[in-house]
Amino acid sequence: MLDLHVHLIGHQERKADREALRRYLGAAKSQGLQTIGFSDHDMFWEELNFDLIRQVAAETPELEVLVGLEVDYRPGEEERIRGMLAQFPFDYVIGSVHEIYGWPFDMPDQEGSYRRADPDELYQRYFEIVAQAAQSGLFQIIGHLDLIKLFGVRPSRDILEHAAPALSEIAARALTVEINTNGRYKPVGEFYPERKLIQEIQRRDISFTLGSDAHQPEVVGRDLPEAAELLRSVGVREIASFSGGQKIRRPL
Ligand SMILES: [Zn+2]
Ligand SMILES: [Zn+2]
Repeated sequence: MLDLHVHLIGHQERKADREALRRYLGAAKSQGLQTIGFSDHDMFWEELNFDLIRQVAAETPELEVLVGLEVDYRPGEEERIRGMLAQFPFDYVIGSVHEIYGWPFDMPDQEGSYRRADPDELYQRYFEIVAQAAQSGLFQIIGHLDLIKLFGVRPSRDILEHAAPALSEIAARALTVEINTNGRYKPVGEFYPERKLIQEIQRRDISFTLGSDAHQPEVVGRDLPEAAELLRSVGVREIASFSGGQKIRRPL
């Protein structure tokens, strides 16, 4: 079992120090994980002390500790992102869309304007940006693929129609999609992505990985056994991990 979507710094609630690292690694062990991957938001990346992570990781050799990053993808920022990623050999990079052309739609205080928008337009614009994120070639993993559903509003058109261009880019570049269990704790109350998308992703032979999106140690590994079971139920037999940017297939 692995958890590749873990925020050590969270939203700056804590420092990425030895004590915090030990708490996260302890939580990963008690959840029975073999691999934990830190993937903090890119805006905090300069606070990460990579040597310290390696030092503390050496205290628990039975646990594989990866260092990734969750990048907030915005069209037009590719060069800035490329420059940032060149400064450290991340094991993997998650590309996530949290904004639609300057509008941070997933913030709790944005629910009002989200509900006033046309749902099909919301979904279409969101997936347009996800397709660009995939096309950018900057990422190995696409984060919470259908985050746009978080307040529970559904499009009138089929979700597969909305997501098709993004899925084509993801498949063409052999990217990985995560099952992100954190959606269950948002108003929508279900994992990202929804089952229908999971089946379509599997049909297109796109690889999966798992992430809790934990912003605190208590949440590391949350619901991942259930997510793994969900994947098995649609015929998935392998899961992707990463090392130095290379995908490693593991039996599920
Ligand atoms: Zn995210
Ligand atoms: Zn995250």
